[in-house]
Amino acid sequence: MHGKLRLMESVAAPPQTATERVSQPIRPAARKDRPVSLYDLPLPDLEQRLTAIGQPAYRARQIYEWAYKRLVTDYAAMTNLPLALRQELSATLPLATMTPVRTLTSDGGETIKTLYQTFDGQFVETVLMLYPDRATVCVSCQVGCAVGCAFCATGLGGLLRNLTAGEMVQQAVDAAREAQNRGRTLTNLVMMGMGEPFHNYEATMKMVTILHEPRGFNFGARRMTISTSGIVPMIDRLAAEPYQVNLAVSLHAPNDDLRSRLVPINRRYPIVDLLAACRRYIDKTGRRISFEYALMRGINDSDEIARELGALLRGMLCHVNLIPLNPVDVLPYERPDPAGIERFASLVRAAGIPTTVRYSRGVEIAAACGQLRAQHQAATPAGNSKRA
Ligand code: SF4
Repeated sequence: MHGKLRLMESVAAPPQTATERVSQPIRPAARKDRPVSLYDLPLPDLEQRLTAIGQPAYRARQIYEWAYKRLVTDYAAMTNLPLALRQELSATLPLATMTPVRTLTSDGGETIKTLYQTFDGQFVETVLMLYPDRATVCVSCQVGCAVGCAFCATGLGGLLRNLTAGEMVQQAVDAAREAQNRGRTLTNLVMMGMGEPFHNYEATMKMVTILHEPRGFNFGARRMTISTSGIVPMIDRLAAEPYQVNLAVSLHAPNDDLRSRLVPINRRYPIVDLLAACRRYIDKTGRRISFEYALMRGINDSDEIARELGALLRGMLCHVNLIPLNPVDVLPYERPDPAGIERFASLVRAAGIPTTVRYSRGVEIAAACGQLRAQHQAATPAGNSKRA
């Protein structure tokens, strides 16, 4: 679901010229054990860590303000902290652990894609999309993905590892800083990058907690969307959470035969169970669900399938996002032509389902999630060796 569905959100015209900034050489993995960063720590944990070394708890709130409100990138900038504390934190608690190694810009500067290298030499992608009325960051939650959707670049290599909460928080904070540098404010976060958030649930919810902290980033839960390929038990779990995050479900097909071919997890959680969980979620939370649907020519875009989709969702508190597929070089799927896309949308709407066509952003900067990572790994000896 994530993968190529992630860079969507737009109803914009095709993008223009892309530009690229290569910022730093690739850094080799320094150590096997994952370092804990400031971004990994909810405020109470940071308070505890500081009091354990004899510091007053209010120092944690000061640090949170510098890191999440002022978006500084170095302890040295936290000038109301004692110098000795700043030095100790620099030595023992890095602010961030991922290094941006490539930044690609397209859509007239409105789409910014960042490729990060993690401490252990993996690569993940983040996209910031600027619109007239909002700025949305698309966050990755895993290196690779175990779901293996048929049309997705991310799923091709399987799952390498989960990202930590801190690695996810860093993507959001860096995007907020990038938006700020362009005179904008980050308004939305979607978990539609690489990976299945419900396969990395604890870290994902920890990220929500950290970003939601009013004395820090203060990002409203309603401005965050968690997207899933359909892990049924986790939909119920999310419904029971106190946070009012949004849920998006990647559907892609209205029947089990087709969906099982496109989204293999459907064999375990078939559509009847998935939609039952969605109804329970709606009943419990009162919130609308978004269904994501990647339109692929000759695969899931016929009139018959559009009517089947409309019938399947009729009466649900939901919205359908149709995302014309971003083709991946090594996969045999294509997007329908514009007339076919509009026809499909009108047939779904005819069933009373609110439906939006969302064209991908950043088509010429490897927009399908996982493509930039795959290109980078193929092109660099360092990248190749890290995957081994
Ligand atoms: S393989 Fe994983 S990342 Fe790709 S679309 Fe499916 S769930 Fe999303």
